[in-house]
Amino acid sequence: MGLPAFRGRQLFRWLWRPGFSDFAQATDFSLGLREELAARGKISAMETVEALCSSDGTRKFAWRLADGEIIETVLIPERGHFTLCVSTQAGCAMGCRFCHTARMGFRRDLEPSEIAGQALRVMEETEESAWPRNIVFMGMGEPLANYSSLLAALEILTDDHGPNFSLRRITVSTCGLVPPMLRLGEDTDVGLAVSLHGPDDETRDRIMPVNRRWNVRALIDACRRYPLARRRRITFEYLLLQGVNDSDEHAERLGRLLRGIPAKINLIPFNESKEIPFSRSSTERMEAFQNILRNMNYTVMMRKSKGQDIAAACGQLYAEKKAGPSS
Ligand code: SAH
Repeated sequence: MGLPAFRGRQLFRWLWRPGFSDFAQATDFSLGLREELAARGKISAMETVEALCSSDGTRKFAWRLADGEIIETVLIPERGHFTLCVSTQAGCAMGCRFCHTARMGFRRDLEPSEIAGQALRVMEETEESAWPRNIVFMGMGEPLANYSSLLAALEILTDDHGPNFSLRRITVSTCGLVPPMLRLGEDTDVGLAVSLHGPDDETRDRIMPVNRRWNVRALIDACRRYPLARRRRITFEYLLLQGVNDSDEHAERLGRLLRGIPAKINLIPFNESKEIPFSRSSTERMEAFQNILRNMNYTVMMRKSKGQDIAAACGQLYAEKKAGPSS
């Protein structure tokens, strides 16, 4: 519009301020400019289709996008802060056998505004004391399969004229797309999480089709080469499935596999559902698995399963709408 650059920054600040829905609200613009913006532009926001709160404080939001697709976002209470779990695609093409989102298939990539907009919409729907400090890209979809929108969303989310999240508090999780993973390390200092779930090809092939394209060796080689920002470690997520990947041997193999990588291991209890033919490992099995890795000097966390009563736990997103009302 031929206006000075600072006007652009001003407008950006308005657009990423919770509650901004009409150019008329931009009170530091002249009336004429507000009218011209309204004539040329349109402010749209994702519509809330669902906002549920779990007994443990986890909140799940479902949004309807302009073309009718529905995506979900989860707000998770942690000690002293909240973490936001965002989606990057409607559906997912990766086909992991244990995951609900995989069952709906791939619908489409999200736009940067739809990814970053999840943080904005959650802030609009919650009191300020529950606004998230951390963001994990662990909702629906494979972030690295939507690379350019992921980068643009990260840029918006960390802009100090906008939501101003710290890159150190953002983690991108991947099922193991090797080329964009290495690019991510070159392009940003964002945290990286790898959904490993198996320490060898035999195990991983059974549950994650992506392993046939980039196998355990290729993935771990890439992790070794990954340009980690100072003081960062790679988080390895390991979903424990009874009788599939949870034996002592699997734990020992995992420990040997990751040797020398600055790593944190996150063990995830499987969230069961009728349609998915796997079971959760027993608590004793999970503890034994954890102890083996601790004895090998790894930092190992057991993730708590939160939001189960509202189907907001890992891998449950979109489960309800496909399966009908839950019991
Ligand atoms: N596509 C990315 C991010 C989304 S999935 C990735 O694969 O990392 C976020 C995490 O939830 C992944 O580690 C995924 O394997 C895990 N997950 C999927 N289904 C699950 C289930 N039913 N129970 C527990 N975790 C699950």
